[in-house]
Amino acid sequence: MTDASPMPPTGLTGDLDPALLRSHGAQVLEWLATYLTPGPGGAERYPVLAQVSPGAIRAALPAAPPAHGESLDAILADVERLLIPGTTHWNHPGFFAYFAISSSVPGILGELLAAGLDTNQMLWRTAPAATELEEVTLDWLRQLVGLRTKWFGQIVDTASVAVMHALACAREAAGFEVRERGLAGRADVPVLRVYCSELTHSSVDKAMITLGLGRVNLVKIPVDAAFRVRVDAMRSAIAADRAAGMRPIAIVGTVGTTSTTSVDSIPALADLAAESGCWLHVDAAYGGSAAVVPELRYLLDGTDRADSLVINPHKWLFTPVDCTAFYVKDRALLKRAFSLVADYLVTPEQEIATNYMDYGVQLGRRNRALKLWMVLRAFGADGLAERIRAHCDLARDFAGMVHYAGDWELCAPVPLALVCFRFAPDGVDDATRDRWNLAIMARVNAEGRSYLSHTVLDGRVVLRLAVGNIRTERRHVEQCWASLRDAARAVAAAAE
Ligand code: PLP
Repeated sequence: MTDASPMPPTGLTGDLDPALLRSHGAQVLEWLATYLTPGPGGAERYPVLAQVSPGAIRAALPAAPPAHGESLDAILADVERLLIPGTTHWNHPGFFAYFAISSSVPGILGELLAAGLDTNQMLWRTAPAATELEEVTLDWLRQLVGLRTKWFGQIVDTASVAVMHALACAREAAGFEVRERGLAGRADVPVLRVYCSELTHSSVDKAMITLGLGRVNLVKIPVDAAFRVRVDAMRSAIAADRAAGMRPIAIVGTVGTTSTTSVDSIPALADLAAESGCWLHVDAAYGGSAAVVPELRYLLDGTDRADSLVINPHKWLFTPVDCTAFYVKDRALLKRAFSLVADYLVTPEQEIATNYMDYGVQLGRRNRALKLWMVLRAFGADGLAERIRAHCDLARDFAGMVHYAGDWELCAPVPLALVCFRFAPDGVDDATRDRWNLAIMARVNAEGRSYLSHTVLDGRVVLRLAVGNIRTERRHVEQCWASLRDAARAVAAAAE
């Protein structure tokens, strides 16, 4: 153990003096307020992508814990000195990688309050306000995205965990008592199959792994020219599987795929689910948030006919990670799939109030509704819609820049705020273009003012620029475009 301070400034019993929360809390808030201020004094003073090598931060940290308590001054100084240099700044307005998520002032305040109150929402009585706030907040979100039917909503950490719960419901609905009897060694259970597109997020594969359904039983259907699942091909696959004695149990449709933000036809998938007796899960982890914009509400057309739905406010609704809204139609089925009340958890109000522990794997749950509620209230329906509209406009502007520049091409439609594009000069073969685009991305990311990621479409490397950060302005997009063009010139020149 290291012995950083001979006299423990923090005492040996009880909490730290709450006065320290006041003094150091003010210091932390001041630091964050500066960090979130647009311009060179804020997050923009750091490279977006951490410019460190694997292991560097670990090597800079003491290998052993302190023998005595250390002062908050020393700890906070180390955050700035040791951890910030190893931070990739998702809150930097030049963050365009993956889905460019960001937190916001009301979201941060909600997170702070939740940590201070530290309620554990396992039962209604252990957190009545948090439980009912979650019910109300998710109903608000449902209304904001234009869903009309009644859904049961809960907040889970991620869309990955949500789809695992959704497929557990589908398995339960199939009626083989898997919850009690498991799957292994049973001759009475056919192979259970799930259908999605080849562009569906890998979290569905992980759900298959976790639930013992097996990855080979996730049938990945090809997409059309606009990267939407081919429903005709899915229909044929279901029929073929059924003829072979397998049992189709679920379909996953995506509103905003990870690679291109393409939107599967949910109405057509709802028809197919009804006709084939399958559960329909709609993964609107990214695209669902955009339905707060009235003219984008069509994105969720058909979703009222689905069985479960996921929307990630931590992706595009300015709520700090983690916060996933998970909805199911049949609340009783979800409860049947997961409820297990140990003697010590029986409460008198369990039939009349929501005990969230009954609706998923987790017993203990933190209060994630508070930050979402504060975001929804602070921005309002019009403020949320306008911010998302602005992101879509910026993405369209960027797509225009790519389209009109020689040597560059757009690689997918831009329905939301993600642009897929690449440097594709004439006379250069595809393999070279792939290498060059990766090199261009590496240069831009190393420069530190923007951060981009890539994907592969039709076997070719494609760059992705996602606008989603609440502080991104046109100048950041223009800066990124200038960096990309400089990098392309340098990469092409180096190859000559
Ligand atoms: N679904 C889609 C379409 C996604 O793009 C992602 C992540 O980017 C996920 C699901 C998984 O999200 P999470 O990180 O919340 O598990």
